[in-house]
Amino acid sequence: MKVLVTGGAGYIGSHVVDLMVNRGYDVVVFDNLYTGHAEAVHKDALFVKGDLLDKPAVDKLFDEHDFSGILHFASHTLVGESMQLPWLYLRDNAVAASNLLEAAARKSVKRFILSSTANLFDAPEVIPITAEERIVPGSPYGESKFFVERYLHWMERIYGMAYCCLRYFNASGAHPLGHIGEDHTPEYHLIPIILQVALGQREKLTIFGDDYPTPDGTCIRDYIHVIDLAEAHVLAFEALADGKSRKYNLGNGKGYSIQQVIQMARDITGHSIPATAGPRRAGDPATLIADSTRIQKELGWQPEFGDLHQIIQTAWNWHQSHPHGYASK
Ligand code: UDP
Repeated sequence: MKVLVTGGAGYIGSHVVDLMVNRGYDVVVFDNLYTGHAEAVHKDALFVKGDLLDKPAVDKLFDEHDFSGILHFASHTLVGESMQLPWLYLRDNAVAASNLLEAAARKSVKRFILSSTANLFDAPEVIPITAEERIVPGSPYGESKFFVERYLHWMERIYGMAYCCLRYFNASGAHPLGHIGEDHTPEYHLIPIILQVALGQREKLTIFGDDYPTPDGTCIRDYIHVIDLAEAHVLAFEALADGKSRKYNLGNGKGYSIQQVIQMARDITGHSIPATAGPRRAGDPATLIADSTRIQKELGWQPEFGDLHQIIQTAWNWHQSHPHGYASK
């Protein structure tokens, strides 16, 4: 079965590609390498360098291949950046998805998985956050994902395209075999930044706000291992064979404050990891914890790397073996 993975050279996409190739899927990766790495793509996947904003390139891709389904990761993904450069999100993420969906509809593709986000839930009424929670995007990034979720609603109604929106909480960790992991330049995510301090690549880290309404004043997040996320994509993709669309929240249902994450990393790395509090980062909700009951019940998804220790340990293994990411080799 041939599938298209947009953004398959990126952090989460590359882990999903790795799993799908190992499960026997014929995978085509389309990625502009804006943040991704060609080295991250499984050697048995076909890699096509291209940009979803380039509509003729997207149309050519669909002329050359018949895809049974699409997993769409390619997008700008930073909450903080989206508050400074909203057009990258409200324009580019939307246009990219639109070019992709137009080509997919033309070729009658019937299965679509969207990499969505917990940033849809800026003002949750109940925590842990269920998939039924009211949507209040926390930033232009979250808004751009909400737009694509709505777009899919119309693709289903008009073209019968079954879709699954996977709203990830904080994707983290690395492949336990150590061949793929997180590599962003510059890095903006908490766990890799902490580990860069432990590697001596940064002097310290800044905690973005310690005056949130949480027990220690720092933001609480639900960290989910990238391998568990990858497994959820495969399960969701298989489930879409029944033609029913779905929306799932994906996390471990456990929240850790930034201070708790730093402390766990100190225990694992043996480094003091100096950290000082600075101003809040715009767009950050105080607490994001997922209720993933729906995907557990409906698809039998169970996290294998459900505790933060395993998440940070696999990330630390990756950072030690690849101190400069894919450029280390
Ligand atoms: N964070 C921080 N310092 C950093 C990077 C991140 O305090 O150098 C905080 C960030 O404000 C958020 C949490 O760590 O509260 C997780 O941020 P990350 O960017 O990893 O993921 P996000 O929650 O934006 O998806």
